[in-house]
Amino acid sequence: MRVMSVSVVAAVFFAVACVSNCFASSAGFTLARDGKLYADIVIPAKPLDCERYAAEELKYHIDKAFGVAAEIVNEGRSDSGKYPFHFFIGATAAARAAGLPGRELKKDEWIVKTSGNGLFLLGRDSNIKYSDIGYTWIRTVYATIYAVYDFLENEMDVKWIWPGPTGEVIPKRSSLEVGRIDRTGIEPLEERFMHGTQPWLSPKVGFSNEESAKRFYAGQSKFLVRHRLGRRRMTKTGHAFEKWWKRFGKSNPEFFNELPGGVRRPASSGSLVTLCVSQPGVWKQIVKDWKDWWEKDGRRGWFEPWVNCCENDYVVLCRCGKCRSWDAPDERFAKCRYWNGSITLDEIGQIAKERGVYGFNAMLCDNRWGIPKDDPRLRPVASVSDRYARFYNNVQAEVRKVNPAARVVGYAYENYTEAPKEVKLDPSVIIEFVPRSYLPYDKEESDFFRKCFLGWRKAGVKEFIYRPNYMLAGGNYPFDQGRIILEDFAFAYTNGMKACKFDSLRGSWACHAMLDYALIRSFRNPLFGYDRARDEMLSAFGSARDLVARYIDGIHEFTTKWTFDDFHKISWQNHTGGNHGGGSYHNNAAILGDYFDEKFFADNYSLLDSAKKAAAGDSEVIARIEFLRKGLRDTELTRLTRIAEKAMKAAPGDKAKADAFDAAFKAMNAYRASVEDDFVCNFRYEARAEKRMGWPHKEISGSPKPAKPARQIEY
Ligand SMILES: [Zn+2]
Repeated sequence: MRVMSVSVVAAVFFAVACVSNCFASSAGFTLARDGKLYADIVIPAKPLDCERYAAEELKYHIDKAFGVAAEIVNEGRSDSGKYPFHFFIGATAAARAAGLPGRELKKDEWIVKTSGNGLFLLGRDSNIKYSDIGYTWIRTVYATIYAVYDFLENEMDVKWIWPGPTGEVIPKRSSLEVGRIDRTGIEPLEERFMHGTQPWLSPKVGFSNEESAKRFYAGQSKFLVRHRLGRRRMTKTGHAFEKWWKRFGKSNPEFFNELPGGVRRPASSGSLVTLCVSQPGVWKQIVKDWKDWWEKDGRRGWFEPWVNCCENDYVVLCRCGKCRSWDAPDERFAKCRYWNGSITLDEIGQIAKERGVYGFNAMLCDNRWGIPKDDPRLRPVASVSDRYARFYNNVQAEVRKVNPAARVVGYAYENYTEAPKEVKLDPSVIIEFVPRSYLPYDKEESDFFRKCFLGWRKAGVKEFIYRPNYMLAGGNYPFDQGRIILEDFAFAYTNGMKACKFDSLRGSWACHAMLDYALIRSFRNPLFGYDRARDEMLSAFGSARDLVARYIDGIHEFTTKWTFDDFHKISWQNHTGGNHGGGSYHNNAAILGDYFDEKFFADNYSLLDSAKKAAAGDSEVIARIEFLRKGLRDTELTRLTRIAEKAMKAAPGDKAKADAFDAAFKAMNAYRASVEDDFVCNFRYEARAEKRMGWPHKEISGSPKPAKPARQIEY
């Protein structure tokens, strides 16, 4: 921890007559009385960037709540007599004099405590750069900020229901006196983040100018920080062997999967080759690579000593005798054409050629990242999880000889999602679990997820990373399957989830308001549940609460009434090419013409109009209802564009139809430009998908990528 200078300690505590006289009887802390501020915000003489950020966040909310301008002052240079009370932010000399923190805090741990005339808000911090603070996927050791948020939420009833000013719920008040506070907290999950939040997504489409895009990403990042997304540890996971074919394809063909006919090579591209995991040379090479990395870079303290054994992004294919002997008996091997030997190498090549590299992959697993043409429920998915459990155990045993602290991390994924039947996992092994599906995420999927997850747990896994793709579902349109997702989130937490990464945050804030709030809220309380999140969301709607509840509940009901077969039907009515149907993550907008009808919009506009009437006179609530309405309008215009596109494609050469599409597309973009500063939607995310469907979004020029995050030192 940081060492304080003694002279600064002395400077903070000179007594001021009025302070002790006026408030001697008060055991707590007076922030304001009758509109007059009684406290300033004191930061260390030389604050860390995160301490400054924390102080600015506190000031921002106090100013809004009380209609005043709170002062941030550096310790030692403050006029301690000006205010009778002081917030002390971070590692101040005053905190040290008050015996705080009094011990080494854990990462993500914070303290909120009153003492004397001070309210101390501090936590474990690092020297993270100010501009890196919104990068929630890097190591985010800055718990002083969390102490501030904890105070804002608990003493000032602040909530953040979506990014941007309309999502800030800051109750107005003229007085606030708090009693004695003495609490600490720590974030329950070690890693809490979502992919897709990097501001340098390309191509640069969707926003009419780069400044608006930047503003959107900055507001979104701030929202995620306010909800304590981040990670206190850096880990290497993800597809680990993408370069192996290039490195060892010639020298060590025995490292790689054996295909029909006995050849060892990738079934598609080199980066998607899978390993022959029963081969001791593979374990030794992994450990050698890890040791080299650890000695060179890893042990400097940036990363955990984890050995990444996460397979490449493909089904596991090795048919060699030894790998097969590691598989638990499973009647599905005999039913699957790949495993029973009735498919030839030529056929595999042909399927991959016709349906893309993952077209063949689909024969061996039933993941549903997109909506497949055939019914994946009918596929005989023979499980190779026992093989992989043994692989992880063997690498763990091997690496333990080199470094007892090293831990293997491996996937439960593709055709090894199900739990091993026979093999028990070494307790050091960490499993990164990727559920097979996200659309629809229904009872059947939930049951399957729970059975698999619990099975791995019973096989000895003590620690999981949960890595669902839930957020890929739903585009820029009203969508919410949050209730069941939150139930499974709680289930995962209760059964060993220590970290969670979602793929990906779409940022459809207006249309996914309830879903996104519920998910993000649960990162810092995995047992929070959908109903409590819903109550918090609705508390922001004043006298329109019941009508907004009908709107939100209506979206949940609408989303969850769609069965797999329903989705499948409209998906393949709207196929836009490739291996997956319309409405998959890369072409979400394709189904819009069939997913919604005009009545959906008429009913919901009418509901929101009634809500606005009920909120008459409350401009903040009206702005929030208007925010929801903007999302709905964007959906409607996107749907009309899709309908016009289909009509155009059905009548090649028909100029009127082509013009109609052009007009609809322009109207949609004009509308988006008119609301792009309101945090309604990450239009870049959606436009990228629409561009892949062939919609003529134009790329804007922009400034270079923001600087990549810097390395941090902890204090
Ligand atoms: Zn093998």
